[in-house]
Amino acid sequence: MRRKLVIGNWKLHGSLLENQGLLNRLKQELHDLEGVDAAVCLPYVYLYQAQAVLRDSAIAWGAQNVSQFTEGAYTSCISAKMVAEFGCTYTIVGHSERRALKLESNQVATKRLLNALHAGLTPIFCVGETLDERDGGMAELIVRNQMLNVVYGLDNKSFALAKKLNMVIAYEPVWAIGTGEHATPEQAQRMHSFIRMMIAERDREFAEQIRILYGGSMAPKNAESLLNMPDIDGGLLGRAALVAEDFIDTCRIASHCWQQQAKFNPQAHTSAVIV
Ligand code: PEP
Repeated sequence: MRRKLVIGNWKLHGSLLENQGLLNRLKQELHDLEGVDAAVCLPYVYLYQAQAVLRDSAIAWGAQNVSQFTEGAYTSCISAKMVAEFGCTYTIVGHSERRALKLESNQVATKRLLNALHAGLTPIFCVGETLDERDGGMAELIVRNQMLNVVYGLDNKSFALAKKLNMVIAYEPVWAIGTGEHATPEQAQRMHSFIRMMIAERDREFAEQIRILYGGSMAPKNAESLLNMPDIDGGLLGRAALVAEDFIDTCRIASHCWQQQAKFNPQAHTSAVIV
């Protein structure tokens, strides 16, 4: 059965002092949660600090992006290989805040994803529709388009690497990010199931294995109903990741949901359920 995964995206927040307190708190509290993996994705300049604090903890860490280039005259870019040197497990790729700034097309996001994989990082590939797109009945089409390169564009070697490194997909409806408004569990389940079925078009085994996270105003008050859904394998948290209690509580709720699912359906794998 897939373990739940809760990841904090710290975005452009933090200071050495604040981080120290938050990381230490997470380290103290999140060490024996059943069925849950936790991680934080910090600004590059704090990766060294995360490595120093979390290296002997149950919490993994990662970056919020990596360059589409591997080396060369690309001022300010940070490569996947550089990030990997700081002990990172994960990197986010294709976050909608990057897409919105027109810094990330599907092609560029896929290039970043490939660089992450080949540096041994687990990419968290973000997809999601805007409100206009949802209202226009285009949500699935948009997400399918964003997923196409990942499902069909990767050569066999890279796809095998994605499977080996447990690539993660994060479904993050743009209208739910940072707004306090979240997708209903049914809306999210429907899209997660759609994404899983798309992956099954290429590799059924990977479709069973891959963790698909929900992101968009997830917080302790709504986490349980979302994480109880069969195809919601965890959360990517922005705002709630900056408050120790909220992040810790969400991880605890994820553990509770995992235990319930394990108890009632120990063979649980993909539901392919459309609610
Ligand atoms: C995010 O930016 O990935 C995110 C999910 O943010 P928030 O939880 O604040 O909506």
